[in-house]
Amino acid sequence: MKFDVLTLFPEMIKSCCGCSILKRAIDNSVIEVNTINPRDFTQSKHKKVDDTPYGGGAGMVLMAQPYVDAYAGVEKLENSLTVMLTPQGKVFNDTMSNEFAQYDQIIMLCGHYEGFDERIREIIKPTEVSIGDFVLTGGELPALCLIDSISRKIDGTLGKIESADKDSFSNGLLEHPQYTKPRNFRGFEVPEVLLNGNHAEIEKYRHEQSLLRTKLRRKDLLFCKKEGKKL
Ligand code: SAM
Repeated sequence: MKFDVLTLFPEMIKSCCGCSILKRAIDNSVIEVNTINPRDFTQSKHKKVDDTPYGGGAGMVLMAQPYVDAYAGVEKLENSLTVMLTPQGKVFNDTMSNEFAQYDQIIMLCGHYEGFDERIREIIKPTEVSIGDFVLTGGELPALCLIDSISRKIDGTLGKIESADKDSFSNGLLEHPQYTKPRNFRGFEVPEVLLNGNHAEIEKYRHEQSLLRTKLRRKDLLFCKKEGKKL
């Protein structure tokens, strides 16, 4: 999977991809993360990438030319998806993460300031994605959320020890509670069932806990719209 990120702040992407599991995935060539700075494509004498909004108002709007030209310069693979990070997009979730992981390349457009000149949308026609109903200063953190989540779905990113198949949302539910040593911590005991080595009982307990936790915290997940049935 190749991620090509159009950003005015490439250091933000590079620094996060330089640690932990993402770094290992890059070092092992499971994923590739490139940054492209629209500022390098501007035709303005002073390397301007933003300007005041037509019609007035606060803030600066990202100019179309540097973004459209930077995007044109990205080599597109056949199985490629272009995503614009914007609070106005479809809210990202685990299903979308699985779908996006099927592509060979994801090109991401990160905004900043007041956001994009509308003609960037009209010309590039990206899939618009939000990471939630709140507004951040830039698209770099949302882009990193997508890179991280999608990379976890790609074979070779996670070791067996970090496997994603039992994580929250993988079966439509939140994950059951987890415990590690010591058995008693400040009077709080690990549930007995996890200590008896009976795998069938442990599975049953975990599934019940998973259902209970989902019911208490995220009732909306319990009705699986896709299949139209209760889990
Ligand atoms: N004026 C824009 C609006 O009201 O829709 C918000 C611009 S925001 C301050 C600057 C940039 O941060 C956006 O262009 C986008 O790339 C990114 N951004 C902010 N919040 C986001 C979110 N919830 N999801 C994805 N991207 C977001």
